[in-house]
Amino acid sequence: MSRTLPFAFPPFLARWRRPANPAATTTATPPALAVWGLALWLASVGNLPLWQRIHALGGSPMQRLVLIAGLGGLLTGALGALLSLLVWPRVFHVAASALLLMAAFNTHFMWQYGVVIDPTMLANVLHTDVNEVRDLMSGALLGTMLLVAGLPLWWLWRRPLALRRTGPQVARNALGVLAGVLLLVLATLAGYQGLASLMRNHKDLRYMANPLNTVYAGVRVVVDQLPRQVQPLKPVGEDATLGATYAQQGRPPLLVLVIGETARAENFGLDGYARNTTPLLARWQARGDLVNFSEVRSCGTNTLVSLPCIFSPLTRTQGGDKTPDHQNLLDVLQRAGLAVLWIDNQAGCKGVCERVPHVYASEQPVPGLCQGGECFDAAMLHGLDERINALDPVRRARGVVLVLHQMGSHGPAYAHRAPAGLKPFLPECTSITLSDCPHEQLVNAYDNSIAYTDHFLDQTLQWLQARAQRGSDDTGLIYVSDHGESLGESGLYLHGVPYALAPEQQTHVPMVAWLSPGLQQRSGVSMACLREHADAPLSHDHIFHTVLGLMDVQTRAHQLALDALLPCSAAAQAHATEPAPAGAARKG
Ligand SMILES: [Zn+2]
Repeated sequence: MSRTLPFAFPPFLARWRRPANPAATTTATPPALAVWGLALWLASVGNLPLWQRIHALGGSPMQRLVLIAGLGGLLTGALGALLSLLVWPRVFHVAASALLLMAAFNTHFMWQYGVVIDPTMLANVLHTDVNEVRDLMSGALLGTMLLVAGLPLWWLWRRPLALRRTGPQVARNALGVLAGVLLLVLATLAGYQGLASLMRNHKDLRYMANPLNTVYAGVRVVVDQLPRQVQPLKPVGEDATLGATYAQQGRPPLLVLVIGETARAENFGLDGYARNTTPLLARWQARGDLVNFSEVRSCGTNTLVSLPCIFSPLTRTQGGDKTPDHQNLLDVLQRAGLAVLWIDNQAGCKGVCERVPHVYASEQPVPGLCQGGECFDAAMLHGLDERINALDPVRRARGVVLVLHQMGSHGPAYAHRAPAGLKPFLPECTSITLSDCPHEQLVNAYDNSIAYTDHFLDQTLQWLQARAQRGSDDTGLIYVSDHGESLGESGLYLHGVPYALAPEQQTHVPMVAWLSPGLQQRSGVSMACLREHADAPLSHDHIFHTVLGLMDVQTRAHQLALDALLPCSAAAQAHATEPAPAGAARKG
C-alpha cells in the first residue's frame, strides 16, 4: 500500500460510496460470472477435506480422477443451481457470503476434529452456548476462514451485480438453475458406477459436501422441529402415584441422578481401563454399596440427542432419539408428588427440566470453583442442603429426585475441566487444536477430566452417605454419561458422528449405581445380585424405567422389562430362585 494515498474507502465498501465522478463508477459483476465463479470455488477449495478423503481412499490415479471429476461436476452443478436461485438485489451478496463462511467453518472442523455435518450435529451447534464457542475459537480457525472464504469474499463485495428488471432476471435465474441441474445430472450419469459404490461404502462422505451439508441439515432441523414445537407435549404417566413404601415412611428417599458429559467407558477405570482414572469410585465399589454397569450404550452421540432421550419414556428405536413430543421422567416424578430439582453446570438441559425447578451453577458463582461464567462440577454441591430445604416442603417430605448435569469431560478444552491440584496425569494437552498435541498428552488431559468426575462423584457420595447416616433420608445415586468421545482413533476427535456410523468410543458409556443400606432395604434391591449381573447389556432406554422403579412410582408408563434393577429386587427374587440378568430385560 502506498504511503502517499489519502484516506480511501476499503474496497468492500466501495459499492456504498458516492462516486466523486459519476463516470468513474465501478463496473458491475455479471451475475453468471459471480454464480459460476463461486460455485467452482466452493466445489473445489470449499471441499478440500472431501477431496483429501477421496484421495486417501486409494485406487488408481485414473479411478480417483474420474471420481473427483464426477463428484466435482455434481457439486458445481448443485451449487450453481442454488446460487442462481439467490440472484436478487440485497440477497445474493449476503447469501453467498453465508455459504462461503459455512464452507470455511465446516472445513476447519473437519480438518481439526474429523467431524461431519449432519442434522443432529447442526441442531447441537445451534444449542451451543458462549463458553462452548469460546472453547472452539483458535488461530487455526481464523487461518482456515481466510483460506477458504477470504479471497472470494473480497472479490464478491468489491462490486455490485449487474442485475436486470424483475422479469428478465427471473428468466435468467431459471436458466441458471436449469444449467446447474443439467450439469449435476450429466456428471452423475458420467461417473455413476464409481459414485454409487463410493456413496454405498462411505456413507459419511454425503455429510462432507460443503456447504450443501449445512443447507440440507438446516432445512431438516426446521422441518423436524417446527411442527413439534407448536404442538403441546403428549402427557406421560397421568396415572402416576406413589407406591406402598411411602405409606408411613420413616425417612423420605433422596435420589441423585448425575448426568455425565462426554465420559467414555474405554477410559473409565472401573470399566477395565489400564490406567486407574477412578480410584475413589473403586473404593466405594470395594465397600459393596456401589455397582458398575460395564456394558451401557448411549442413545445418541451428542448431548442434544442423548439428554432428552435419557429422560424419555420412548426407547431409542421408538423415537426417543428424536426431538421430544412427549413429557419426560421428571414430569412423571413431579406428577406423582415428589420434589424434583435440576442443577445445571453446562449449556442447559435441552428442554428436559423446563417444567421442574432448575438452577444454573454459574448463577451463584462459588469462589475458587467458578470463574468467567464457568464452574468446576463440584460447584453444584455447594449449599446443596439449603437448596433441598428450599424445595416445596410437602413434596420434600415425600421424597426428592435431584439431577446434577455435569460439565464432565466436555471437549476440546479438557484441560479446563479439572483444577490444577486435581490432575494426576501430566503433562497434559492445553491446546484446543487436538491434533497439535502429542497423543499421550491429549489422553492425559482427557483422563484428568475423568479423574475429576471420579472426585466429584466421590464428594457427592460422601454428602449422600452423611445424610443417610444422619437419618434424614434414604439416599442413592445413579451416574450415567450422555455419550462418549473420540480421541484421535481413525482420525476422529470429539463426538457427534451419525449414530449408525459412530465408533464404539462415542456410544459405550460408563454407568454406576450406589444405594445406601436404607434405600437397599426400602427398594428391596440386592447389591450382590446387581454385582453378579453388572456386565449385562443396558442402554439409556433403561433409565426412565429404572428410576421409576427405584423411587416406587406406580404408573402404566413404567415398563418392568426396561427396569434394570427390577430383576434384582426382592419382588423379582421371591418369584424366581434364579434372578433374570439385568440386561435380559432389554427391549428390542
Ligand atoms: Zn454431551
